[in-house]
Amino acid sequence: MRGRFRRPVVFSGDAVETKPWQPYLPYDAVSCRYNEIGTKGHNRSFFVAHLLEALKRRLGRWFLKPVFRLEMGRIFMLPSEAGGSLTEMQVEALRKEIPGLPGISSVSPGFLVANTPEAIFACVEKHFPALHAAYAAAVAEGERTYAVRVNRMDKRFPLRSAELEVEFARRLLKAYPDLRVDLRHAGLRIEIDIRTERTFISCERIAGAGGLPTGSAGGVLAMLSGGFDSPVACYEMMRRGCNVDFLTFHSSPYTPPATLTKVAGLVRKLNEYQKRGRFVAINLAPFQKAVRDNCDEKYRTVLYRRAMVRLAAAVASYFGDLAVVTGDNLGQVASQTLENLSTIGAATRMMILRPLLTWDKLDILEAAERIGTERLSKEEVPDSCTVFAPKFPATRTTVEELLAEEAKLPLAQLLCECLSKCTLHNALTLAEHPFPEILAAPLES
Ligand code: ATP
Ligand code: MG
Repeated sequence: MRGRFRRPVVFSGDAVETKPWQPYLPYDAVSCRYNEIGTKGHNRSFFVAHLLEALKRRLGRWFLKPVFRLEMGRIFMLPSEAGGSLTEMQVEALRKEIPGLPGISSVSPGFLVANTPEAIFACVEKHFPALHAAYAAAVAEGERTYAVRVNRMDKRFPLRSAELEVEFARRLLKAYPDLRVDLRHAGLRIEIDIRTERTFISCERIAGAGGLPTGSAGGVLAMLSGGFDSPVACYEMMRRGCNVDFLTFHSSPYTPPATLTKVAGLVRKLNEYQKRGRFVAINLAPFQKAVRDNCDEKYRTVLYRRAMVRLAAAVASYFGDLAVVTGDNLGQVASQTLENLSTIGAATRMMILRPLLTWDKLDILEAAERIGTERLSKEEVPDSCTVFAPKFPATRTTVEELLAEEAKLPLAQLLCECLSKCTLHNALTLAEHPFPEILAAPLES
């Protein structure tokens, strides 16, 4: 049983209201809503511009030359300059692609009509028979409920919202006596959005992910492993407007090539939600071998992590990213106690963001399933962190202890060696390129 206080996991925009029986109607526009951007003041156009870019990127395969009309609080998307109807495939694409899209609260395919009661009645009366037939077929027995809800932004409109709703009830209930009005939980719901220039009529809402459009908050570098957590952490950062670059560590030859192939699959999936992030890999094995040969075994994991965040900070600085993101989750494993998170963080001046710090594992798994990374993460492939992993890792380290361990190593030289073998990857083609330019990045040690 889900707890009452459980967080609403990703895709928490408007409630999804696409019913399984929803028929295809020849809609001529899509209304896009964006709650959070609506609270912005003079810089709203900056966020809207990012949102338009995201919509074009995400829907470009189905909407080749869409036209966008910006109105107060809404973006209307028309299928082309010449107008025309959305195809069934385009409506399906909205249902499939919008739910993960950061920045969007919800979208509705629907009809744009003139701002007159006659035009609104004509449109509803034209399409209602098809809508009702599909609904009645799906609810062959039992109660059929309906609602017409009106949002009257243009106060010059001659009928008030309630008057229009009552007028619809009068007309429709006479023609369809099987329907009963239920304003809160209607099976069949029509929304009439009276704007300043035109009215938009719809009968379906597709929830987006809420939050802010990617790219509007700047860049971060995520430490991406093949696990369940870090991909969700990346997505959560995107949902707050970040563009995410990716860094993974492997330990070749102690980890197989499949370690990298798996992460490349995750990068491909995550890039579906944003403008493509860069993907780099660093071989940590030289550092891990030195730690194995010189340091107290129990500190290995934390020493690896301190090296990882230093290298990540260098890559982030090189890319101009402002923070390093991890999938850390308080108390999940030995390296994630408050003490160890603190000693790991102390290895760099770069800001480390841990969006999943307080999440329940079940919520993380649910989110991973929704964004499509769960099935990729569950493939079992050795991870860099498990190489020479200690039997009894220290759970409460101090910076002094770790500095003493690191003093046993040629730290700067080892970090430099790891960085010199950094590679840049194309997650689509799996092509790998050397990345010697990264040696120009500032390294903390
Ligand atoms: P995940 O947290 O992604 O499920 P995990 O649980 O195997 O993977 P942890 O041991 O929890 O990894 O590591 C905590 C965080 O450290 C990860 O979320 C990730 O951000 C980072 N990390 C761990 N291993 C790697 C790696 N091989 N490459 C890049 N980052 C890593
Ligand atoms: Mg984890």
